[in-house]
Amino acid sequence: MLIPRSLVAIFVLLFSAVSSAQVNVYSSRKEALILPLLEQFTTDTGIEVKLLTGKDDALLRRLSMEGKSSPADLLITTDVARLHRAKSMQLTQAVASDLLYKVIPAAWRDTEDHWFALTSRARPIIYAPSRVNPEQFNRYEDLASTQWQGRLCLRSSDNVYNQSLVASALIANGQAQTLAWLQGMVANLARPPAGGDTDQLKAVAAGMCDVTLANTYYLARLTRSDNSGDNFVASQLAVFWPNQADRGAHFNISGVAMMRAAKHPEDALALMHYMVSDKAQLWYAQVNNEYPVAMGVDVPDVLAAYGTPIADAVSLVKLGELNQDVIRLMDQAGWR
Ligand code: FE
Repeated sequence: MLIPRSLVAIFVLLFSAVSSAQVNVYSSRKEALILPLLEQFTTDTGIEVKLLTGKDDALLRRLSMEGKSSPADLLITTDVARLHRAKSMQLTQAVASDLLYKVIPAAWRDTEDHWFALTSRARPIIYAPSRVNPEQFNRYEDLASTQWQGRLCLRSSDNVYNQSLVASALIANGQAQTLAWLQGMVANLARPPAGGDTDQLKAVAAGMCDVTLANTYYLARLTRSDNSGDNFVASQLAVFWPNQADRGAHFNISGVAMMRAAKHPEDALALMHYMVSDKAQLWYAQVNNEYPVAMGVDVPDVLAAYGTPIADAVSLVKLGELNQDVIRLMDQAGWR
């Protein structure tokens, strides 16, 4: 018996509708820091989640190579400059959602709805209180002062965290002042830039330098570590919130974007909504030692202990847009 073509089409449609209760996620977060949440989502909704983890920039390259045939529905990654890069590479699509607009403050999502923050993270000055009086600090800009000569550690300029921080200074101070600031910091380096944020913290604790810039979740991770060596490193360090009398301390985000090539946009949106629920926000912020973006959700104790800073309210979209200018400026200043 021949089945009419239209019936076949309906059958295929029904089948794919049933089998499509699935979201494919590419994430730069460590599996342990996101998988339990995705599993809970599956338990609560019946929507299956496939997770592929990788390094941030490698995931962008992979998405770009896969193009339209990419299985990814969502990208979960860190730093607004990367989310902006994904958008610029035309990998993402706009998502219209009143729920996301309501829960996530406007400053923490793309003006064209291509990405949304899931958490925020702070990048203050971190120093050795045994050798530094916090009254010696006031602003990020002061790290160029000669009093820090040979006392500053910084990770290399190819990392997006410092790029976004420099972008915020560029917006506040303009090109000439920012270049002078960068040159001043480079002149103060205790050693050539190397390693990640944790390496900078360890270098300060070990007395190799006295001051650095790092995201607070790295310090929190050392504090909460099961390793007593890590705990000791954390005990040698303190947080200083700069620029509290002007623009505020630099905050960035981790966030989510829906892929332009998403095959399961509705299920993907369901996961985005789940990620900003109070329950998910609390868990996700706690395990990552970051700030929740949903209002009214508790800040992890380990972060609350660092104080309640004034955050720079600069447009994150602008930080992303300035990324290439900043990379050139850091290069010009000799920040390797
Ligand atoms: Fe990080």
